[in-house]
Amino acid sequence: MTEQLYRTDAYLRTCEAKVLDVDERGGIVLDRTTFYAAAGGQPGDRGSLRFAAGECPIATAVYDNTDKSRIVHVASEGAPRPAPGETVTAELDWNLRHRHMRMHTALHLLCSLLPFPVTGGQIGADESRLDFDIEDASAVDKDKLTAGLNALVAANHPVTERWITDTELEANPELVRTMSVKPPMGTGRVRLVLIGDNGSIDMQPCGGTHVRATGEIGQLAVSKIEKKGKINRRFRVILA
Ligand SMILES: [Zn+2]
Repeated sequence: MTEQLYRTDAYLRTCEAKVLDVDERGGIVLDRTTFYAAAGGQPGDRGSLRFAAGECPIATAVYDNTDKSRIVHVASEGAPRPAPGETVTAELDWNLRHRHMRMHTALHLLCSLLPFPVTGGQIGADESRLDFDIEDASAVDKDKLTAGLNALVAANHPVTERWITDTELEANPELVRTMSVKPPMGTGRVRLVLIGDNGSIDMQPCGGTHVRATGEIGQLAVSKIEKKGKINRRFRVILA
């Protein structure tokens, strides 16, 4: 399996790791990694693996289809690859990851301002989106939402984590905001992400990477609200 170091420290940019496996398509499995594997609408990390004979640029990271406990680092085409057993230094494209962390935390803030079921979402470095089912969207206003987001950023609310058991989550289904993305269950425990003291702003199970306080997100703007169906609305958010 691959130890997911970003689960306990989202700010860890680099680590030493051992190569467990290299497949013919350029997928490299390590015993531990700082690379976030694409899930829950957050893209996999980019970066590089440095080893004795060179450097291997990594285009993205994904979960192994046949064994979800392993993370596959997808090498850029034609790149030199380390061999199984070799020690590598894994290093993130931190600039990209940090933007994903800011964006991801921003989407939690958007959730806190829109008390409706979430039906989908995607995080990007330049623009992210969340879809909600809203019966009556007449009161939803782009500029008001932008002001609301920036007030939450300016208040610099702490972002913390708390682990609960799968059973506790099942007993509190109201914690789950997203209908399309199932919380990362199955290992017996789930990580809750709390924004504000005791989760006063937002609290939901989430396996992604977040900044430590909302001030780190910086200025935000809701750039667009699109109608995606009778009651579905898509909200696009940018780092201003
Ligand atoms: Zn999250």
